Amino acid sequence: MQFNRCSRCGCFFVSSGDVCPNCQQKDAYEINQLKNYLENSSMNSSIQEISLNTGITEKNLHRFFKDDNFIGSDNNPTIL
Ligand SMILES: [Zn+2]
Repeated sequence: MQFNRCSRCGCFFVSSGDVCPNCQQKDAYEINQLKNYLENSSMNSSIQEISLNTGITEKNLHRFFKDDNFIGSDNNPTIL
């Protein structure tokens, strides 16, 4: 059995993925917010700007952008 460490809360969990089942819902919520923000803003926002405007921590933003499954590869923004 393999344990993963949650990227959000740091707890250990058994299922696959970056975050524990508890945090998957929070991730999904923030990814929605992020997508909405990106649709309504210029594509040249910096991580800091996005974080300020969405309330999502920079750490989580980096994680979302790193994973192409979260943000559709068609509309990947340019991160400065
Ligand atoms: Zn967690």
